[in-house]
Amino acid sequence: MVKQQSFTPTQPSFRNQLVIFTGLGLVIFSLVTSLLIAWLISGMAKGYMTSNGVQVTMGLSEQSVLAALTESEENGEGAINQVRQFPEVTASKIILPSGKVLIQQGDFEVSTEIEQLETIEESQLLYENESYWVFAAPIVLAASEGEEEEEEFEIENQEEQTIGYSMVKMSKNTLAQANKLIVTYALMVGAVAVMVFTVLTNYGVSKLTQPLLNLAQVMLDAEKTGEHLRADVEGPKEVQRMAHAYNSMMEVLDVQDEELRLHRDQLEAEVDIRTRELIEARDTALTANRHKSEFLANMTHELRTPIQAIIGYVDLVQEELEMEGLVELQEDLEKVTNNSRRLLTLINSVLDFAKVEAGKMDVNPEEISIRIIVMNVKETVLPLVAKNKNQLVLAGDDQELKITVDREKLEQVLVNLLTNACKFTSNGTVTFDVKLTEKAVIFSVIDTGIGIEETHVAGIFDEFQQVDGSQARKFQGTGLGLAICKRFCELMKAEIGVTSKMGEGSTFFVKVPLEVEFDKENL
Ligand code: ADP
Repeated sequence: MVKQQSFTPTQPSFRNQLVIFTGLGLVIFSLVTSLLIAWLISGMAKGYMTSNGVQVTMGLSEQSVLAALTESEENGEGAINQVRQFPEVTASKIILPSGKVLIQQGDFEVSTEIEQLETIEESQLLYENESYWVFAAPIVLAASEGEEEEEEFEIENQEEQTIGYSMVKMSKNTLAQANKLIVTYALMVGAVAVMVFTVLTNYGVSKLTQPLLNLAQVMLDAEKTGEHLRADVEGPKEVQRMAHAYNSMMEVLDVQDEELRLHRDQLEAEVDIRTRELIEARDTALTANRHKSEFLANMTHELRTPIQAIIGYVDLVQEELEMEGLVELQEDLEKVTNNSRRLLTLINSVLDFAKVEAGKMDVNPEEISIRIIVMNVKETVLPLVAKNKNQLVLAGDDQELKITVDREKLEQVLVNLLTNACKFTSNGTVTFDVKLTEKAVIFSVIDTGIGIEETHVAGIFDEFQQVDGSQARKFQGTGLGLAICKRFCELMKAEIGVTSKMGEGSTFFVKVPLEVEFDKENL
C-alpha cells in the first residue's frame, strides 16, 4: 500500500469562511441601515422641533400684543411665563419697535439688531448654532372685529401694524439626546439582528456542510485503514453526487483488488511449485556433486598409490642403470619420472579440489613465523625461477612476526602463485613481498610476465579457467591451481585477489588476517 503523507488544509473551512463573509456583510449592512434610519429620524425630529419653535414664538407674539401696545412690562410677564412652560425654551423676550427690550427672561448670548427683526414678516427661525435655535415673530396689531364688520372696505385696505417683536431661544439638548438614543437603539437592533442572523447562518451552513465533512472523514478513514469504506449518500445534491462517485470508485477498487489477489495467489502457487522443483533439482545436483567429489577423492587416492610406486621403481631402475653405465636409457627414464611427477601433481590437485568440494578439507592452524613460511616457499620455487631465466626478489616487513595459520595450505597457495609467476614470465623479475598492516599480513607475488587480459581477471579464480587454449597448450596446466588457492583462502578466512596489465605483468596477493576465529567443524 502507498503510504500517504498527512495533509493539513491551508484555508479555513467552507463553513467558517461562509459565516465570516456573511457576518461581515451583515455588520456593514446593519451599520449603514442603523445610521440611515437614525439620520432620517433625527431629520424628522429636527423638523418637528423647529416647527414647534415657530408655533411657540407665534403664540408669544399673539400673547404680547397688549404688553407691546401699552409698553407695560407687567402685561408681558404672563405671556413670557406661559412660554417658559415649554422645557426646551431657555430664553424669551419682547422687543419694542424702538429696539428697547420690554421684558426678557433667560440669556440670549447674542444681541439682535432691530433692523434684522424688521425684515421678518411672520414667525420664523432667525438663527441657530450647535446648541440652540432662536426664533422671532412680529407682534402685529390687527383691526378690531367690530370695525371690520362696519367698515369692511376700510379694513380690507387697512395694513396690519407691527408693534413689537417676540423672540424665543430653544435648546437643542432634547434633540441631541433623542439623536443619541435613536443611534444607540438602531445600533443595538442592528447588533441583535447580526447575532441572530449569524447564528442562523452558522446553523444552516453546518447542516449543509456536515454531509461533506462526513464524506471527507470516510475518505480519511479509508486512507488510514487501507479499507475500501463506503460513504453515506446524503446532504445536498452536489455532495450526494460526490459520495456516489466515491462509492463507485471504491467498488472498482474492490474488483481490481480481487483480481490482483487471484493473480497473486496463482503466482504464489506457481512459485511454490517451481521452488519445490528447484529445491529437488538443487538437492539432486548437490547429491550428485557430492558423489562425484567422493568418487574423485577415492579415485585420486587410488591413482596416487600406483604412480608413487612407479616413481619409486623408476628411481630404483635409474640407480641400477647408473651403476651399469647405461646413460641413454637413463634419459628416457628421466622423462618417465618427470611425467609421473606431473601426473602426481595433477592428481594431488584434483584430490585437493575434490576434498574441498566434498567438505572434507580440514584447517590445521599453527603458530609460525612469517620468515619460515617465506623460506619454505622460496626453497620450493627456486628451481622454477631459474628455468625461465627469471630473477626472484624477496622484499618485505618484519618477518619474525608469528602468525596463526594453516601453514601447509598457505605455503601451497603461495607456491602456486609463485609457480604461475615463474611460468608466465621469461627473463623477468618475480617479486615475493610481505607487508604487515594492523589487522593482516599481505603476501604479494609480482611478476613482469605476460599479464592477464582484463576480461579474464574476474573469472581467473574459477575452476578449470585458463586464459586461452593456445596459452594453455604452450604453458601447460589444468586451470585448477587458482581455484584451489581460492578455496584454501576461503577456508583460512584469507582474501585472494589479482591486478594485472597485458604485457606488463600481474600482481597476486593473499591477505591473511592476524586474528581469526575458525569454524569448529574445520579444526
Ligand atoms: P594452470 O594450472 O593452468 O596454471 P591456474 O589456475 O593456476 O591454472 O591458472 C589459471 C590461468 O590463469 C592460467 O592458465 C593463466 O592463463 C592465468 N595465470 C595465472 N597466473 C598468471 C600469471 N602470473 N601471469 C599470467 N597469467 C596467469
